[in-house]
Amino acid sequence: MESDPRLVPLATGVHVWSPDAAGAWGLANCGLLTAAGEAALVDTPYTLDRTDDFLAAARAAAGPGTGITTVLTTHGNGDHGWGNQRVTGAEIVSTRRTLEHQCFEPTPEQLRSLVEDTDPGEPLGWYFRRHFGRFDFRGITVQEPTRTFEGRLDLRIGDMPVELHDVGPAHTVGDMVVHLPKQRIVFAGDVVFAGDHVCHWSGPLERVVLACERVLGWDPDLVVPGHGPVLDQDGLRGHIAYLRDLADQARSLHARGLTPTEAARHLIAEDRYPDLHLPERMVITLASEFRHLDRADAEPDILALMTDCSWIAWQRDSGDQALSTASAG
Ligand SMILES: [Zn+2]
Repeated sequence: MESDPRLVPLATGVHVWSPDAAGAWGLANCGLLTAAGEAALVDTPYTLDRTDDFLAAARAAAGPGTGITTVLTTHGNGDHGWGNQRVTGAEIVSTRRTLEHQCFEPTPEQLRSLVEDTDPGEPLGWYFRRHFGRFDFRGITVQEPTRTFEGRLDLRIGDMPVELHDVGPAHTVGDMVVHLPKQRIVFAGDVVFAGDHVCHWSGPLERVVLACERVLGWDPDLVVPGHGPVLDQDGLRGHIAYLRDLADQARSLHARGLTPTEAARHLIAEDRYPDLHLPERMVITLASEFRHLDRADAEPDILALMTDCSWIAWQRDSGDQALSTASAG
Protein backbone atom coordinates (compact mmCIF):
# COMPACT_ATOMS: atom_id res chain seq x y z
CA MET A 1 0.00 0.00 0.00
CA GLU A 2 1.41 3.36 -0.99
CA SER A 3 1.60 5.93 1.81
CA ASP A 4 1.61 9.69 1.28
CA PRO A 5 5.13 11.06 0.91
CA ARG A 6 6.23 13.71 3.38
CA LEU A 7 8.72 16.51 3.07
CA VAL A 8 11.64 15.61 5.36
CA PRO A 9 14.42 18.05 6.36
CA LEU A 10 17.96 16.83 5.60
CA ALA A 11 19.94 19.96 6.55
CA THR A 12 19.39 23.70 6.85
CA GLY A 13 17.46 24.74 3.73
CA VAL A 14 17.31 21.25 2.23
CA HIS A 15 14.27 18.94 2.23
CA VAL A 16 13.52 15.71 0.42
CA TRP A 17 10.05 14.54 -0.62
CA SER A 18 10.42 10.81 -0.72
CA PRO A 19 7.57 8.48 -1.68
CA ASP A 20 7.58 4.93 -0.37
CA ALA A 21 8.91 3.59 -3.63
CA ALA A 22 10.22 0.06 -3.06
CA GLY A 23 9.35 -2.15 -6.01
CA ALA A 24 7.49 0.63 -7.83
CA TRP A 25 8.06 2.51 -11.06
CA GLY A 26 7.61 6.26 -11.30
CA LEU A 27 7.68 7.29 -7.62
CA ALA A 28 10.74 9.54 -7.68
CA ASN A 29 12.31 11.62 -4.94
CA CYS A 30 12.09 15.39 -5.22
CA GLY A 31 13.99 18.09 -3.35
CA LEU A 32 13.34 21.56 -1.98
CA LEU A 33 16.19 24.05 -1.53
CA THR A 34 15.49 27.31 0.33
CA ALA A 35 17.77 30.17 1.33
CA ALA A 36 17.37 33.88 1.94
CA GLY A 37 13.85 34.18 0.56
CA GLU A 38 14.38 32.10 -2.57
CA ALA A 39 13.51 28.48 -3.32
CA ALA A 40 14.33 25.85 -5.93
CA LEU A 41 12.98 22.37 -6.58
CA VAL A 42 14.99 19.37 -7.61
CA ASP A 43 12.65 17.53 -10.00
CA THR A 44 8.85 17.44 -9.90
CA PRO A 45 6.56 14.38 -9.65
CA TYR A 46 5.12 12.33 -12.53
CA THR A 47 1.61 13.79 -12.54
CA LEU A 48 -0.14 17.07 -11.87
CA ASP A 49 -2.08 15.91 -8.79
CA ARG A 50 1.07 14.59 -7.16
CA THR A 51 2.89 17.81 -8.06
CA ASP A 52 0.13 19.83 -6.38
CA ASP A 53 0.67 17.80 -3.19
CA PHE A 54 4.43 18.30 -3.37
CA LEU A 55 4.08 22.03 -4.08
CA ALA A 56 1.68 22.53 -1.15
CA ALA A 57 4.20 20.89 1.19
CA ALA A 58 7.12 22.79 -0.39
CA ARG A 59 5.39 26.19 -0.13
CA ALA A 60 4.47 25.52 3.50
CA ALA A 61 8.08 24.57 4.32
CA ALA A 62 9.56 27.50 2.38
CA GLY A 63 7.30 29.94 4.20
CA PRO A 64 5.35 32.98 2.99
CA GLY A 65 7.18 35.37 0.70
CA THR A 66 9.63 32.76 -0.56
CA GLY A 67 9.08 32.20 -4.26
CA ILE A 68 10.08 29.07 -6.17
CA THR A 69 12.24 30.60 -8.89
CA THR A 70 13.98 27.52 -10.27
CA VAL A 71 13.38 23.88 -11.08
CA LEU A 72 16.45 21.70 -11.47
CA THR A 73 15.46 18.78 -13.72
CA THR A 74 17.94 15.93 -13.27
CA HIS A 75 17.02 14.20 -16.56
CA GLY A 76 14.34 13.76 -19.18
CA ASN A 77 12.25 10.87 -17.75
CA GLY A 78 8.65 11.92 -17.10
CA ASP A 79 8.71 10.81 -13.49
CA HIS A 80 11.20 13.60 -12.78
CA GLY A 81 9.65 16.50 -14.62
CA TRP A 82 6.09 16.11 -15.87
CA GLY A 83 4.91 18.32 -13.01
CA ASN A 84 7.06 21.25 -14.22
CA GLN A 85 4.13 23.08 -15.82
CA ARG A 86 2.70 23.66 -12.32
CA VAL A 87 5.67 25.81 -11.28
CA THR A 88 4.65 28.80 -13.33
CA GLY A 89 7.31 31.31 -14.24
CA ALA A 90 10.20 29.27 -12.84
CA GLU A 91 13.40 28.73 -14.76
CA ILE A 92 13.77 25.05 -15.69
CA VAL A 93 17.42 24.04 -15.77
CA SER A 94 18.81 20.82 -17.20
CA THR A 95 21.65 19.56 -19.36
CA ARG A 96 21.54 20.28 -23.08
CA ARG A 97 21.39 16.57 -23.90
CA THR A 98 18.24 16.14 -21.82
CA LEU A 99 16.44 17.58 -24.84
CA GLU A 100 17.63 14.60 -26.92
CA HIS A 101 16.22 12.10 -24.45
CA GLN A 102 12.84 13.82 -24.51
CA CYS A 103 12.65 12.94 -28.19
CA PHE A 104 12.23 9.22 -27.54
CA GLU A 105 10.52 9.32 -24.14
CA PRO A 106 6.87 8.13 -24.49
CA THR A 107 4.35 10.96 -24.21
CA PRO A 108 1.83 11.14 -21.33
CA GLU A 109 -0.87 10.15 -23.86
CA GLN A 110 1.08 7.08 -25.00
CA LEU A 111 1.62 6.02 -21.39
CA ARG A 112 -2.06 6.49 -20.56
CA SER A 113 -2.92 4.36 -23.58
CA LEU A 114 -0.50 1.61 -22.49
CA VAL A 115 -2.37 1.49 -19.18
CA GLU A 116 -5.91 1.76 -20.51
CA ASP A 117 -5.94 0.35 -24.04
CA THR A 118 -3.82 -2.78 -23.55
CA ASP A 119 -5.18 -6.23 -22.65
CA PRO A 120 -4.98 -6.81 -18.88
CA GLY A 121 -4.95 -10.55 -19.59
CA GLU A 122 -1.62 -10.21 -21.42
CA PRO A 123 1.73 -9.52 -19.69
CA LEU A 124 2.22 -5.99 -21.09
CA GLY A 125 -1.25 -4.77 -20.14
CA TRP A 126 -1.03 -6.46 -16.75
CA TYR A 127 2.40 -4.89 -16.07
CA PHE A 128 1.43 -1.37 -17.12
CA ARG A 129 -1.72 -1.47 -15.01
CA ARG A 130 0.21 -2.79 -12.05
CA HIS A 131 3.00 -0.21 -12.20
CA PHE A 132 1.50 2.83 -13.95
CA GLY A 133 -2.21 2.41 -13.21
CA ARG A 134 -1.85 4.55 -10.06
CA PHE A 135 -0.89 7.60 -12.12
CA ASP A 136 -3.30 10.07 -13.71
CA PHE A 137 -1.49 11.29 -16.84
CA ARG A 138 -4.24 13.64 -17.99
CA GLY A 139 -3.54 17.31 -18.58
CA ILE A 140 0.24 17.10 -18.79
CA THR A 141 2.08 19.28 -21.30
CA VAL A 142 5.75 18.32 -21.31
CA GLN A 143 7.85 21.43 -20.68
CA GLU A 144 11.22 21.95 -22.29
CA PRO A 145 14.01 23.35 -20.11
CA THR A 146 14.38 27.13 -20.30
CA ARG A 147 18.09 27.03 -19.54
CA THR A 148 20.55 24.28 -20.49
CA PHE A 149 24.25 23.79 -19.94
CA GLU A 150 27.11 21.41 -20.66
CA GLY A 151 29.84 20.44 -18.23
CA ARG A 152 29.13 22.41 -15.06
CA LEU A 153 26.92 25.28 -14.01
CA ASP A 154 27.21 27.12 -10.69
CA LEU A 155 24.08 28.76 -9.34
CA ARG A 156 22.99 30.48 -6.17
CA ILE A 157 19.59 29.95 -4.65
CA GLY A 158 19.38 32.88 -2.23
CA ASP A 159 22.82 32.62 -0.64
CA MET A 160 23.09 28.84 -1.11
CA PRO A 161 25.77 27.69 -3.56
CA VAL A 162 24.44 25.00 -5.91
CA GLU A 163 26.70 23.13 -8.32
CA LEU A 164 25.11 21.39 -11.29
CA HIS A 165 27.21 18.70 -12.98
CA ASP A 166 26.49 17.15 -16.36
CA VAL A 167 27.43 13.47 -15.93
CA GLY A 168 25.65 11.92 -18.93
CA PRO A 169 25.39 9.80 -20.82
CA ALA A 170 24.74 7.49 -17.88
CA HIS A 171 21.13 6.72 -16.92
CA THR A 172 19.96 8.71 -19.95
CA VAL A 173 21.94 10.67 -22.52
CA GLY A 174 21.72 13.81 -20.38
CA ASP A 175 21.99 13.35 -16.61
CA MET A 176 22.58 16.09 -14.09
CA VAL A 177 23.55 15.72 -10.46
CA VAL A 178 23.05 18.53 -7.96
CA HIS A 179 25.85 19.08 -5.44
CA LEU A 180 25.28 21.27 -2.38
CA PRO A 181 28.84 21.73 -1.09
CA LYS A 182 27.84 23.66 2.05
CA GLN A 183 25.35 21.02 3.22
CA ARG A 184 27.44 18.09 1.86
CA ILE A 185 24.37 16.69 0.11
CA VAL A 186 24.05 15.39 -3.45
CA PHE A 187 20.81 14.88 -5.36
CA ALA A 188 21.94 12.19 -7.78
CA GLY A 189 18.81 11.73 -9.92
CA ASP A 190 18.59 8.28 -11.51
CA VAL A 191 22.35 7.88 -11.65
CA VAL A 192 21.64 6.20 -8.28
CA PHE A 193 18.70 3.92 -7.35
CA ALA A 194 18.25 2.51 -3.84
CA GLY A 195 16.35 -0.72 -3.15
CA ASP A 196 15.35 -1.46 -6.75
CA HIS A 197 17.28 -2.63 -9.76
CA VAL A 198 18.50 0.21 -11.95
CA CYS A 199 16.99 0.68 -15.40
CA HIS A 200 19.59 2.53 -17.41
CA TRP A 201 18.37 3.55 -20.84
CA SER A 202 21.70 4.85 -22.05
CA GLY A 203 24.78 3.53 -20.24
CA PRO A 204 27.25 1.99 -20.46
CA LEU A 205 27.42 0.98 -16.79
CA GLU A 206 31.04 2.08 -16.72
CA ARG A 207 29.86 5.66 -17.17
CA VAL A 208 27.27 5.29 -14.41
CA VAL A 209 30.06 4.01 -12.13
CA LEU A 210 32.21 7.02 -13.08
CA ALA A 211 29.34 9.37 -12.22
CA CYS A 212 28.85 7.65 -8.83
CA GLU A 213 32.58 7.85 -8.13
CA ARG A 214 32.54 11.53 -8.94
CA VAL A 215 29.80 11.97 -6.34
CA LEU A 216 31.86 10.02 -3.77
CA GLY A 217 34.82 12.28 -4.57
CA TRP A 218 32.87 15.25 -3.16
CA ASP A 219 32.83 13.46 0.21
CA PRO A 220 29.09 13.97 0.79
CA ASP A 221 27.28 13.11 4.03
CA LEU A 222 24.07 12.22 2.19
CA VAL A 223 23.20 11.12 -1.33
CA VAL A 224 19.58 11.37 -2.43
CA PRO A 225 18.96 8.74 -5.13
CA GLY A 226 16.38 9.24 -7.86
CA HIS A 227 14.27 6.53 -6.21
CA GLY A 228 14.42 4.95 -2.76
CA PRO A 229 15.81 5.93 0.63
CA VAL A 230 18.61 8.46 1.16
CA LEU A 231 22.08 6.86 1.26
CA ASP A 232 25.33 7.55 3.10
CA GLN A 233 28.73 6.97 1.48
CA ASP A 234 28.73 3.26 2.36
CA GLY A 235 25.33 2.89 0.73
CA LEU A 236 26.69 4.48 -2.43
CA ARG A 237 29.77 2.23 -2.34
CA GLY A 238 27.46 -0.79 -2.13
CA HIS A 239 25.57 0.49 -5.16
CA ILE A 240 28.81 0.93 -7.11
CA ALA A 241 29.80 -2.68 -6.26
CA TYR A 242 26.47 -3.89 -7.68
CA LEU A 243 26.91 -1.81 -10.86
CA ARG A 244 30.41 -3.21 -11.35
CA ASP A 245 29.21 -6.78 -10.83
CA LEU A 246 26.34 -6.28 -13.26
CA ALA A 247 28.78 -4.92 -15.86
CA ASP A 248 31.03 -7.98 -15.38
CA GLN A 249 28.06 -10.32 -15.72
CA ALA A 250 26.92 -8.47 -18.83
CA ARG A 251 30.33 -8.92 -20.46
CA SER A 252 30.51 -12.65 -19.78
CA LEU A 253 26.88 -13.42 -20.71
CA HIS A 254 27.25 -11.34 -23.89
CA ALA A 255 30.40 -13.30 -24.76
CA ARG A 256 28.40 -16.52 -24.34
CA GLY A 257 25.99 -15.30 -27.01
CA LEU A 258 22.94 -14.69 -24.81
CA THR A 259 20.41 -11.97 -25.64
CA PRO A 260 19.87 -9.27 -22.97
CA THR A 261 16.56 -10.90 -22.00
CA GLU A 262 18.17 -14.34 -21.72
CA ALA A 263 20.97 -12.81 -19.66
CA ALA A 264 18.43 -11.17 -17.31
CA ARG A 265 16.60 -14.48 -16.92
CA HIS A 266 19.90 -16.19 -16.15
CA LEU A 267 20.80 -13.71 -13.38
CA ILE A 268 17.28 -13.92 -11.92
CA ALA A 269 17.40 -17.75 -11.89
CA GLU A 270 20.74 -17.50 -10.07
CA ASP A 271 19.13 -15.13 -7.55
CA ARG A 272 22.27 -13.07 -7.86
CA TYR A 273 20.85 -9.88 -6.29
CA PRO A 274 18.30 -11.17 -3.77
CA ASP A 275 17.77 -7.82 -1.99
CA LEU A 276 16.79 -5.71 -5.00
CA HIS A 277 13.24 -5.28 -6.27
CA LEU A 278 12.14 -5.23 -9.93
CA PRO A 279 14.75 -7.69 -11.26
CA GLU A 280 12.95 -7.72 -14.63
CA ARG A 281 14.42 -4.25 -15.22
CA MET A 282 17.78 -5.91 -15.85
CA VAL A 283 16.39 -6.50 -19.36
CA ILE A 284 16.60 -2.73 -19.98
CA THR A 285 20.02 -2.15 -18.43
CA LEU A 286 21.53 -5.24 -20.08
CA ALA A 287 20.09 -4.22 -23.45
CA SER A 288 21.86 -0.85 -23.09
CA GLU A 289 25.06 -2.61 -22.07
CA PHE A 290 24.87 -5.07 -24.97
CA ARG A 291 24.31 -2.21 -27.45
CA HIS A 292 27.59 -0.72 -26.25
CA LEU A 293 29.38 -4.09 -26.38
CA ASP A 294 28.07 -4.53 -29.94
CA ARG A 295 29.02 -0.92 -30.75
CA ALA A 296 25.47 -0.52 -32.07
CA ASP A 297 24.17 3.03 -32.09
CA ALA A 298 20.43 2.26 -32.34
CA GLU A 299 18.17 3.85 -29.75
CA PRO A 300 16.40 1.53 -27.31
CA ASP A 301 13.10 0.04 -28.49
CA ILE A 302 11.18 0.95 -25.35
CA LEU A 303 8.05 -1.05 -26.14
CA ALA A 304 10.00 -4.23 -26.98
CA LEU A 305 12.03 -3.88 -23.77
CA MET A 306 8.94 -3.28 -21.64
CA THR A 307 7.24 -6.30 -23.24
CA ASP A 308 10.17 -8.54 -22.25
CA CYS A 309 10.20 -7.03 -18.72
CA SER A 310 6.47 -7.73 -18.44
CA TRP A 311 6.84 -11.36 -19.47
CA ILE A 312 9.50 -11.97 -16.81
CA ALA A 313 7.45 -10.25 -14.08
CA TRP A 314 4.26 -12.06 -15.18
CA GLN A 315 5.93 -15.48 -15.09
CA ARG A 316 7.52 -14.77 -11.71
CA ASP A 317 4.18 -13.59 -10.37
CA SER A 318 2.30 -16.68 -11.64
CA GLY A 319 5.12 -18.82 -10.19
CA ASP A 320 4.66 -17.12 -6.79
CA GLN A 321 0.91 -17.62 -6.97
CA ALA A 322 1.28 -21.30 -7.87
CA LEU A 323 3.68 -21.73 -4.94
CA SER A 324 1.40 -20.00 -2.42
CA THR A 325 -1.63 -22.01 -3.65
CA ALA A 326 0.40 -25.20 -3.32
CA SER A 327 1.56 -24.34 0.21
CA ALA A 328 -1.95 -23.17 1.21
CA GLY A 329 -3.37 -26.49 -0.08
ZN1 LIG B 1 13.21 7.91 -12.37
